[in-house]
Amino acid sequence: MNVGVLALQGDFREHLSALGECGVKGKLVKTVAEIAEVDALIIPGGESTTISKLAKAFDLFDLISKRIADGMPTYGSCAGMILVAKKIIDPASGQDTFGGIDMEVRRNAFGRQTESFEFDLEFKPFPGAPIRGVFIRAPWVESQGAKVEILASIDVAGKSHPVAVRQGSVLATAFHPELTGDNRVHRYFLETVCKK
Ligand code: GLN
Repeated sequence: MNVGVLALQGDFREHLSALGECGVKGKLVKTVAEIAEVDALIIPGGESTTISKLAKAFDLFDLISKRIADGMPTYGSCAGMILVAKKIIDPASGQDTFGGIDMEVRRNAFGRQTESFEFDLEFKPFPGAPIRGVFIRAPWVESQGAKVEILASIDVAGKSHPVAVRQGSVLATAFHPELTGDNRVHRYFLETVCKK
């Protein structure tokens, strides 16, 4: 399987390394031809406004949106989660999303005081074996449709907020497993989401 990592901006190299640790030789992609060729795509963490604007500037926006809508397995972390959401609650001007998951996300949801933090998360596919969530100016899921499976959540002020979700062939995490050296989320993407 040909797995691409969208390399417009953000921590795409870390995702490439995580794929390598899973025994998959990924490919950094940033042209129409490269994106047309991949079987699956990872959208990295970074700045979702920048990635969205660059995707439009390089004429990739509609292609990526269409490939996701057509069922290409896709995994977005942090900014990537924002980009696969159907809707952003507080978008920057000119910021659009590729779509893929029927959810509304709130950018920078954890607020100033906890812009960055780490937290051990119960991740539904690995019961009893928490994964370390690295959150950097992370979003959370504010609302989601019935077809969206919640894989991990965080409680803030007595309210539970999803931070890892899946809808069919699209996976998204508000946190960055590519920064921890624990590649179980990447394996879950490769071995379960991509094979659905
Ligand atoms: N806050 C960033 C955004 O809105 C995401 C941050 C991240 O990817 N670490 O795109």
